[in-house]
Amino acid sequence: IWAKVLNTLKGALGANSYSSWIEPLEFTQLSDGVAIFDVPTNFIGNYVSQNFGDQIIYHMNNAGEDVQRLQFRVPSQSRPTTKPKSIKKANESEAASGAPLDNRFTFDTFVVGKPNELAHAAARRVAEGGPVTFNPLFLYGGVGLGKTHLMHAIAHELKERSPELNVLYLSAEQFMYRFITALRERKMMDFKQLFRSVDVLMVDDVQFIGGKDSTQEEFFHTFNALVDGQKQIIISADRAPGEIKDLEERIKSRLQCGLVVDLHPTDYELRLGILQSKVDVYSAQYPELEIADGVLEFLAHRISTNVRVLEGALTRLFAFASLVGREITLELTQDCLSDVLKASDRKVTVEEIQRKVSEHYNIRLSDMIGPKRVRNYARPRQIAMYLAKQMTSRSLPEIGRRFGGRDHTTVMHGVKRIEELMALDSQIADDLELLRRALQE
Ligand code: ADP
Ligand code: MG
Repeated sequence: IWAKVLNTLKGALGANSYSSWIEPLEFTQLSDGVAIFDVPTNFIGNYVSQNFGDQIIYHMNNAGEDVQRLQFRVPSQSRPTTKPKSIKKANESEAASGAPLDNRFTFDTFVVGKPNELAHAAARRVAEGGPVTFNPLFLYGGVGLGKTHLMHAIAHELKERSPELNVLYLSAEQFMYRFITALRERKMMDFKQLFRSVDVLMVDDVQFIGGKDSTQEEFFHTFNALVDGQKQIIISADRAPGEIKDLEERIKSRLQCGLVVDLHPTDYELRLGILQSKVDVYSAQYPELEIADGVLEFLAHRISTNVRVLEGALTRLFAFASLVGREITLELTQDCLSDVLKASDRKVTVEEIQRKVSEHYNIRLSDMIGPKRVRNYARPRQIAMYLAKQMTSRSLPEIGRRFGGRDHTTVMHGVKRIEELMALDSQIADDLELLRRALQE
């Protein structure tokens, strides 16, 4: 069972977290709903419990075990255990190099637009090597905007230009993991040696060390040693240095003393550019597939700023189209991606819905919300309730309150009524579609 759960966890957490945190666990027994694991240190046990506990319980239950709680124990020294070995293995394989680089993340595949041109230019400059100009280069921006892509691109480029350079790329999480492993195995000298001998150090997602005090401390020393030695440091985070939570002031100010550039949320043009470049790749892969005019524009309009979501949507679209052997039309796109499209829909408020609907039916807002029950007002009111239920995350009582303090059963009734009518009256269905689209804009 545990072996099966391990497999699911690997997929769910990603290879990095998996090898850092899950692999060191040794499942020992399950009794009375408590799953007991041996762990190499209390630290690992606590960390796993806080960060992955719920997921482990969830997947164990999914695999058919009744697990309520997890317990982590550090086996006493006298008892022979196989664990330290496997930890050392993970550690050793990482020791010489950093985390693996994704071969697709190069400058060639990075599409440049207004929102990322500065970050791209700075990355290019650093990738040229030569004398260190800004140190550190600090890249920040929201999730899926290309931070990791740019960092890998720099690493690829540097390695190509100067194969003798010792370029170390890793996530802040891996930095911490190596640090605590070194502490536990009393190998701090090796650790310091390794990190002080690199020519270029790249630490991804540095916000992770916020609140992790001893890791911060060590990071600070590593950082200073490298800067003093004129070695290039490149850091990424999901926010500006000053805004990282629970990060020591002295580290914040250190991180700011090089060049800080942010990746802005993508705009329509950049999204379209990225889609086009991905389509070129796919078209080589699926030469038989045609993509209709307007599909990419539609996706660039409708999908949020996160490039990862955009790519995922396109991948799914091509896979689906090749499966059913059809041209990629707008209709197919809407069918295939309805959930993604819904999730990235703009958030609308109940008030906006009320305003739009009363405008559409040419009634006053006060009449829509007011007590009058004549059909002229009641129908638009129900339509607005229906849209509020569909398009916002408000509960029925919350919606009722915004409709002049109506009861939640009234709202429920209204929503039902519209659902029934939609099937009978195509005019209503059309109106709803129109309103929905107007509200999305
Ligand atoms: P982050 O690290 O900022 O969360 P990533 O670098 O992992 O984001 O990017 C997410 C995905 O989007 C990756 O597959 C990456 O290749 C792609 N991506 C992001 N920005 C661009 C871009 N400007 N051009 C091409 N692909 C991009
Ligand atoms: Mg990243």
